[in-house]
Amino acid sequence: MAGSAVRRTRFAPSPTGLLHLGHAYAALVAEREASPGQFLLRIEDIDRDRCRAEYETAIHEDLAWLGLDWQRPVMRQSDRMAAYRDALARLAPYSYPCRCRRGDIRAALSAPQEGALPAGPDGLVYPGTCRGRSLSEAGPDDVIRLDVARAFDALGIDRIGFRDGAIMPGHDHVLTRDQFLDGIGDVILSRRGMGTSYHLAVVVDDAAQRITVVTRGKDLFDSSYIHVILQKLLQLPTPLYHHHRLIRDDAGKRLAKRDDARAIRHYREDGATPQDIRRMVGF
Ligand code: GLU
Repeated sequence: MAGSAVRRTRFAPSPTGLLHLGHAYAALVAEREASPGQFLLRIEDIDRDRCRAEYETAIHEDLAWLGLDWQRPVMRQSDRMAAYRDALARLAPYSYPCRCRRGDIRAALSAPQEGALPAGPDGLVYPGTCRGRSLSEAGPDDVIRLDVARAFDALGIDRIGFRDGAIMPGHDHVLTRDQFLDGIGDVILSRRGMGTSYHLAVVVDDAAQRITVVTRGKDLFDSSYIHVILQKLLQLPTPLYHHHRLIRDDAGKRLAKRDDARAIRHYREDGATPQDIRRMVGF
């Protein structure tokens, strides 16, 4: 359990490109927040179409070059499908199959609505068209969604929250049931052909790795509410959260993997030292 236990943090990149300055910062924050505990690495490679072995190798090389050290063996999500399947089965009482495609969702939302469509951490807030379908009707191309209202009812709660160490020390961030339904909605637990989703995999793995402090960018702030409700449904401990600032380019845009010029290894090839990288991200 979090609290008395040793602090354990993780850096959890996806091997879909070279690590950039934003990743360097995230990894350094995770390592700092672990101190004097344990810093772990987790390879988030559930999206087999986008992940590549050479990027995974590059992650190890770049982090080692930066001077980081982590516990071995390294967890890889592609090795964890059985654990996700078990968790999905445990969530069956609060889940349903959904066959809506993006166009269906957009059309359903546009009908009663004028102007901007409601969007949450995963894009459009699902309008619930397939809610009520039973898992026995699931087709091979369906996704599995969490029935959020049913989940809140089953838990007997009307709000969900977490403690964030970075934004407001010691302050609990809370979302009511209605805010969750309106702003996040019935999130996907298992994507088409994937057997899991980012949210489900992260929750299962943070618990398996006994992570006590989840450090991640502020862009994932709302996702943390999703993770807390999944932790409650799966009876897993809720870690502390530390949402850190994002590294932006000169135009103020958040760095993404496609900004290849900002890749750590390109700075390195240009003669930068690990200390230069640390300084560039404000360490
Ligand atoms: N894999 C996620 C990413 O690359 C971060 C993992 C997490 O903090 O949940 O942004």
